[in-house]
Amino acid sequence: MGMITIKNQDDLAKIRKAGHIVAEVFELMQEMVRPGVTTAELNKAAEALIKRRNATAPTRGYAGFPAGTCISVNQEVIHGIPGRRVLQEGDIVSVDVVVQLNGFCSDGARTYAVGKIAPDIQHLLDVTQLCLAEGIKQARIGNRLGDIGSRVQQIAEAEGYGVVRDYVGHGIGREMHEAPDVPNYGVAGRGLRLVNGMVLAIEPMITMGTHEVYCLNDGWTVVTKDARPSAHFENTVAITPDGPQIMTTL
Ligand code: MG
Repeated sequence: MGMITIKNQDDLAKIRKAGHIVAEVFELMQEMVRPGVTTAELNKAAEALIKRRNATAPTRGYAGFPAGTCISVNQEVIHGIPGRRVLQEGDIVSVDVVVQLNGFCSDGARTYAVGKIAPDIQHLLDVTQLCLAEGIKQARIGNRLGDIGSRVQQIAEAEGYGVVRDYVGHGIGREMHEAPDVPNYGVAGRGLRLVNGMVLAIEPMITMGTHEVYCLNDGWTVVTKDARPSAHFENTVAITPDGPQIMTTL
């Protein structure tokens, strides 16, 4: 995972530019996600947009991963491989994308409803988004990593949801994965102290049932053990004297 890097204003400007493209991908996915579309079509459109912006998608080729986005459906938590799967009414689909531009990365994820979804699944999406928003509020100078994780965990577990332990958020900058790990669980007031210029990818992965997951035989796709649905929302966030600044936004 390497070392913690502290970013200056120029670095942050570059991360924000990459993050703007991540946000553009999310707008495009919002338009495209509907019953009948394949996950490969979503990925192709996302990668085309990134290419038009003269940026790259560093997940393509990372440890052999074959696409520029990770697309995970229903009980798939993360790292799903885009392919021929046709989205159906009532599915949820998580799109996770890293964009690299001018040497810096931004990373984000959104979970979309495919057509009309069940109210309990919509609630999972709403709560996971809230977990992200509230976790980000804790990303302040002088707070600690445990303040972020404990807030996410508190919100999710109050709803009876699971917090995935085996995969966590991370630092980000020139590399898409830098130190430190950013767990979605923890103890408030514990862990690494947050300082000006840290940039973190905060990414709650929240499950409707057990938090336990395993990886499919494709070597990538992580699914819940009980096959219940999972949601994933992620933003890249800079820690600044003005408070947390979300980089993956328009
Ligand atoms: Mg990501």
